[in-house]
Amino acid sequence: LVSRKWRVRPTVLDLGDGVYIGEGSLSIAAGPCSIESEAQMEKIMDHLVENDVRLMRGGVFKPRSSPYSFRGLGMDGLKVFHQMARARGIKIVTEVMQVSQVEEMHDYVDVFQVGARNTQNFNLLDALGGVDKPVMIKRGISGTIEELLSSAEYVFSGGNEKLILCERGIRTFETASRNTLDLNAVPILKEKTHLPVVVDPSHGIGIREFVAPMALAGVMAGADGILYEAHETPEQAASDGQQTLNFAESERLIRNLRKVYALR
Ligand code: PEP
Ligand code: MN
Repeated sequence: LVSRKWRVRPTVLDLGDGVYIGEGSLSIAAGPCSIESEAQMEKIMDHLVENDVRLMRGGVFKPRSSPYSFRGLGMDGLKVFHQMARARGIKIVTEVMQVSQVEEMHDYVDVFQVGARNTQNFNLLDALGGVDKPVMIKRGISGTIEELLSSAEYVFSGGNEKLILCERGIRTFETASRNTLDLNAVPILKEKTHLPVVVDPSHGIGIREFVAPMALAGVMAGADGILYEAHETPEQAASDGQQTLNFAESERLIRNLRKVYALR
């Protein structure tokens, strides 16, 4: 069902209020790794509005490698996130980690994010097949392109055709970067599937200085959107500060992303 052989026309998702994801426009989703506070959200939202970015990413349920790391503000944080985003015409992309959260989060999210550690959580994918909101599936940490497509097939065959695929880097033998951003996946996915494809260069390379060039490379490779981490003070971020852009860096990237997209 997710194959181009089944549907030739590219899928474009309409999130409402003039926000679309898919061929024909470049989607930019920026925001902190973790939602931390109202003050933090206000600053990032001002930054997004100033730059005409309509999508904000930010986790309230955080999958952390260590149980002692910050694990997110949970539903209370999401409700404030939602209220503040609504007031500014911003759409929310946030991670759902387990089946029980799907229903409680439903009314407060615009795009459900399935994290790299949950790409093959088939119960979660089944549950998301039954919702009427877009789902962005990240590629598994050691997942193949075919496995990512199979995960999408779970959701699609469950009845939810509103899907986005995200290349976010995979685990390889290379240790110079956090992950290896597999830009090969972009044109391959675009050929194999009718679904929108986005790139997350923040997790893909994990090194702040190199996020912008990899984001631009992702657009040139054919991505329909870029998802990256931004924070007013990355050094103080509760998670992933080492790969998070400050507002000056983010603004410059947004400008360059639009220029590069126009060249395609
Ligand atoms: C995130 O987007 O903050 C995240 C945890 O991503 P991933 O699942 O790709 O590691
Ligand atoms: Mn992160």
